[in-house]
Amino acid sequence: MKGNIGVTTENIFPVIKQFLYSDHEIFLRELVANAVDASQKMKALASSGDFKGELGELKVKIELDEQAKTLKIIDNGIGMTAEEVDKYINQIAFSSAGEFLEKYKDQMQSIIGHFGLGFYSAFMVAQKVTIETLSWKDGAKPVFWTCDGSPEFSMEECIKQTRGTVITLYLDSESAEEFGTKGKIAQLLGKYCKFMPVPVVFGKKTEWKDGKEVETDEDNVINSIEPIWTKAPSDLKEEDYLKFYKALYPMDEDPMFWIHLNVDYPFNLTGVLYFPKIKERMAIDKNKIQLYCNQMFVTEHVDNIVPDFLTLLHGVIDSPDIPLNVSRSYLQSDANVKKISNYITKKVADRLEEIAKEQREQFEQKWDNIKLFIEYGMLSDTKFCERALKFALLKDTEGKYFTLEDYRKEIETAQTDKDGNVIYLYATDADEQYSFIQAARNAGYSVLLCDCELDSHFVNMIEQKVEKSRFARVDSDTVDNLIVKEEKVKPEMKDDDKKALSDLFKAVLPEGNEYQVEPENLGEQAAPVVITQSEFMRRWREMSAMGGGMNFYGEMPKSYNIKVNMENPLIARIWGDREGTAELLKQVVDLALLQNGMLKGKALADFIERSQKLLG
Ligand code: ADP
Repeated sequence: MKGNIGVTTENIFPVIKQFLYSDHEIFLRELVANAVDASQKMKALASSGDFKGELGELKVKIELDEQAKTLKIIDNGIGMTAEEVDKYINQIAFSSAGEFLEKYKDQMQSIIGHFGLGFYSAFMVAQKVTIETLSWKDGAKPVFWTCDGSPEFSMEECIKQTRGTVITLYLDSESAEEFGTKGKIAQLLGKYCKFMPVPVVFGKKTEWKDGKEVETDEDNVINSIEPIWTKAPSDLKEEDYLKFYKALYPMDEDPMFWIHLNVDYPFNLTGVLYFPKIKERMAIDKNKIQLYCNQMFVTEHVDNIVPDFLTLLHGVIDSPDIPLNVSRSYLQSDANVKKISNYITKKVADRLEEIAKEQREQFEQKWDNIKLFIEYGMLSDTKFCERALKFALLKDTEGKYFTLEDYRKEIETAQTDKDGNVIYLYATDADEQYSFIQAARNAGYSVLLCDCELDSHFVNMIEQKVEKSRFARVDSDTVDNLIVKEEKVKPEMKDDDKKALSDLFKAVLPEGNEYQVEPENLGEQAAPVVITQSEFMRRWREMSAMGGGMNFYGEMPKSYNIKVNMENPLIARIWGDREGTAELLKQVVDLALLQNGMLKGKALADFIERSQKLLG
């Protein structure tokens, strides 16, 4: 029998070839998936009792003949009768491709990659394709079908003794070069078919004998037919999860923990997501989650399916409910995809909350490592944020961890200011801000350590989410002013005197910054001069810098407050005898600069020389 394939387009194959150009390699996945389907249908027929014959060992075999440039995909599944080949291959398969092309012809560009084009993706790489098939049905006759890439095909009876289907691709010369080696086929099978549910065999296992690699009699099965995500969590042990992780990412360190996803309503989704151990902050690999559809690999680009902050996780998601044959812009607006994304966020939050509650010690140990995920999640996803406010931890400069709620209880009494705001003190660098941290601690305050990239954003967010809370970096003011308990009486000074004081100090401060000189009464015992940086201005600078590029606040000179303690005896001396205390003034200012790590280069050398002289 000869016939014309039921498509209206004159010749669809060149079109298929052209617009699928970027993703030719998926042909193998599609053909193996068909063979796997046929095998599973066979299994189902046997277990329902519809098929009573010999089932045999169901498997899919791939055979490459490098010389002849042919690739065979062989299965012992249900096979097809002549009517079925006509219906599924000649009519439906080809006409649906016609429809597909018709529908998307205006947006070819936006359709990227992965869609199940099924059987004819074979024509992306082959100049001729043949099907030899024998149906499982009693009395079925074997069929030979062939098509050379024009809409013309031929179909005739043949001799095939065994049930199932052999698809043979005669690779075109370009494809033969790209795909016609054992190494390439092995790589593609490894990428797309590693977890397919029926054994996929490619050649024989090899072993080393007398210094040579030789083939054994054993089939080389390239897949694991029951990957862990298809199993019940209760049947799995910790080492199973770790082993699977190693199989996916052989080079990576063990993950910190994982989440087994398992839903069947209102959509179908299984998978295991791992929290990787981050070695270097910000040097995290995205796109390490693999998306599968019924154990068939689809893509590593899960951007729209998994919320952005969770693309930092690793692992596998498998769902037949994620539409694969559509463009990304469509994916974004797909209701199912949104539900899936929300579900994953919820599950991750559930799991984190559970660990935080039930394994608090472990959670604390892991916190520094997972903090970045969680803060990123809280900043980018309001739903996750609501959940995470319950389990996110704060760490103080002594290395103790608190939940937000516990921390508030801890500091409420000592750190509430006169307006009823609870002031959270924090340091971003425990060494650089050492003296400020000490001063705050001596005053009975607790100081948090916020040294993560996202902390300045995080701190802003907490201020908005938690009522009556304000964050202040320990060096943003003198201890008394960080948490103002009662209105302070400022030293009384005439405007002229204030200006004179300001000029006096500015003359000895390093150039390039802006200074606000303020007379204060800090007590006789307190330091003569304290240099602080306004919380507000500093945060603006930091956030602008993080936002990238140079913008207004990023370019502004640093601005410091110079608090001059008028009650300190040294200051009293300097102020009383300005001419005679020039050296003392310098010394006092340099000491304050030194405390802030701001004394450098020549200024530092001068200071040391002057100090030695003063020591006599
Ligand atoms: P899809 O798999 O999406 O239905 P395809 O174009 O890949 O579309 O295949 C069309 C149909 O041809 C399949 O649904 C199946 O009925 C039949 N078919 C394809 N390959 C095989 C095979 N190896 N064994 C049995 N039937 C097959």
